[in-house]
Formats: sequence, C-alpha cells, structure tokens
Amino acid sequence: MKITDVKTAEVRIKDDGKPTYLYHYVRIHTDEGVYGTGEASHVDGGWRGSTRTMAEQIIGKDPRDVDAIFEGIRRSYIFRGGMSGLGISALTGIEIALWDLAGKAQGVPVYRLLGGKFRDRVRLYVDSAMTNCRERAEEARSRGFTAIKFDLDDAGNPHKADPWNWSVTPGELEIMVDQAHEIREAVGDKMDLAIDLHGRYDATAGIKVAHALEDLNLMWLEEPVPPENIQALAHITHSTKTPICAGENAYLRYGFREIIEKQACDIIMPDISKCGGLSECRKIANMAESYYIPFAPHNNSSALSTVGDAHVCASVPNFLALEFHRFHDKTWNDVIDSDEAVIQDGHVALTEKPGLGVELNEDFLQSMMDEGEPLWQ
Ligand SMILES: [Mg+2]
Repeated sequence: MKITDVKTAEVRIKDDGKPTYLYHYVRIHTDEGVYGTGEASHVDGGWRGSTRTMAEQIIGKDPRDVDAIFEGIRRSYIFRGGMSGLGISALTGIEIALWDLAGKAQGVPVYRLLGGKFRDRVRLYVDSAMTNCRERAEEARSRGFTAIKFDLDDAGNPHKADPWNWSVTPGELEIMVDQAHEIREAVGDKMDLAIDLHGRYDATAGIKVAHALEDLNLMWLEEPVPPENIQALAHITHSTKTPICAGENAYLRYGFREIIEKQACDIIMPDISKCGGLSECRKIANMAESYYIPFAPHNNSSALSTVGDAHVCASVPNFLALEFHRFHDKTWNDVIDSDEAVIQDGHVALTEKPGLGVELNEDFLQSMMDEGEPLWQ
C-alpha cells in the first residue's frame, strides 16, 4: 500500500449564517483506494502550506508505518517548527489521518493498534466557559455528564488594577471566590468540577487563588500561570492542596518531560490534535503514569478528532476525563456521517469499526463552503 495524494479541507462552520468554528481536516489517499482522515486544531492559515509541504515527503510511502513517517517529517522540520507550534500541529493532522488509514487497512479500530483498550467508553467533561452556572450544571447532569468546567479568569473584573500585570487585588479575589462557591453549589458535591484560569495570573496571584479555592474539592484548577515557565508552575503546585492541571500549550514528549519530572502539575492536559497526535500522546500519558499523574486531554476540536482522542484515552490506564466544549454543541453531530450520536450519556463509546470509526459528513461540510469552492483542496 502506497500513499498517492494528500488533500486538506478548511471549513468555517456557520450557525444561522453566522461564522463560528473553523475546522482543519487532512485526507490521505492510497493506491488501494483506502483513505484516512485527520484533524489539526489551533492552527492558522499557514497550516495548509505546511501540510502540503510535509505531504511531498510521504507520497509513495506505506501509510501503516505511522511512527516512522511522523519522525521522518519531524526531524526534517527541526528548523521550521519540528519542536513545537504550527509545524507540529500540521504534522499532527497527518498523523491522525495515518492512524485512521492504518486501522482501515488492517480492519481494526485504532485503539487495537495502540495496544488495546482499558475501557469501552471515554468519559467527557463539559467545558461550560463563563455561562450561567446553574443552567449549565443542570443541562450537563441531565445529559449524563459527571464532570464540568467553568472559567474564573475575567479581564473585565471591576477590581482589576491593571490590564497588563497579572496580579489579583483583594476585591478581584473576593469576586472570584464568591463565583467559585456559587458554581460549586450549582454543580453539587458529587459532580467533578474544574476551574480554568487560562494562564492569566502571576505566580503570587496563582497561589492566592489556589489557596482560596482549597475547600471546594476541585477536580483541578487549570493553568494558573502562563505556560512558558515550568518552575513557576511547580512552585504553585507544590504550595497548595488544590490539584493543578496544565499542558494545553505544550508539545510532544519533549515538552512534557520537564513538567512530569518536576511534578510541576498534578494532572496533565495535552491537546492531542495539536501537540503530536495519537501515538505521541499515548507516550506522554505513559510518561505521566510513571509519576502517577492522571491524563485529562484538552480538546477544542470537532467530533472527528474527539473520537480520535477517545482511542488514546481508552488505551492508557491513567485517563481521567476528556474535554468537550459546549460551544460546538449545535453542529456537533452534523460534522459526522453517523446514525448514532458521538456523545452518549456523557461519554464517547468506542466501536469495533476500523480506523477512527467515524467519517465526515461531506455534504454538510460542503454546504459550509463558499459557492463553487471545493471542500478538498
Ligand atoms: Mg484551558
């Protein structure tokens, strides 16, 4: 089996004519007619050019040699983003498409190729942003979700002293703590609750917030400080009872090595369709497991990559919960060509279908393109 062609699709989803999410898909074709589809997340317009340049290296190769193709491209890109950022994210889309292809070529689901599954279904948590906490908690519970996340960072907090420094004033902290208690009350004490700070505080402020939330029994407090300084993150983690989760902007095993070795956070959250793909994130999860660190991937992708993530989450023992962002909710099932909903009872159920086990709904995606513009280019 040989790779013959690589195509990309950039789709802006519209809701009532209003543009919402932008999804980036890659499709790899072979001489045997089997194809694989992947998705890259958090990329910009340069993604298509990078994917096309990388694709030139893989024409004629056997798509089942996923790790060797991945590493070959990565090493050739070391001066152009082969360590982190857009280069790795474009490569990630290719990697996921290769896994879909490898599974289809061998007639098995991807989790079988990743070593088999520890669980039949993968638990999701609902990212509910800063919206009405009572309504969202009730909605999540009624749909079978057992974990939920809300945002607590607010650039518009009236007690914020300065738009650039990342400190927290007493008035600001008081509002945050009151909101967090209101959220916990709305969610109840049986549901897992995470709070996100989006890396928008300095180390002192991060410690103050983490300490102030200690009695809320959080599943985690996410990214109290920006991602660049692992020592500062470790300082916060080691100073509080509140579990700290981080890693949504780290890339590859190499980017997680120091975080894990320094036990700089209590829970890691790689973005699987951004930071290296299925094989790489399984390895990251395995590294974390050796420090008894749970794996709770960040995810802001469409249903295709979310199912891809679920294959990895099923294949490691230390999986905790996978993100599902409710902003995607309205068109979530439209993107996929399936009779069954991807999310059932707050979980992604894995099937015996080969590859990722889901196909894109190309009629729906084509309907999102401009008049006359082809989906795959
Ligand atoms: Mg986050």
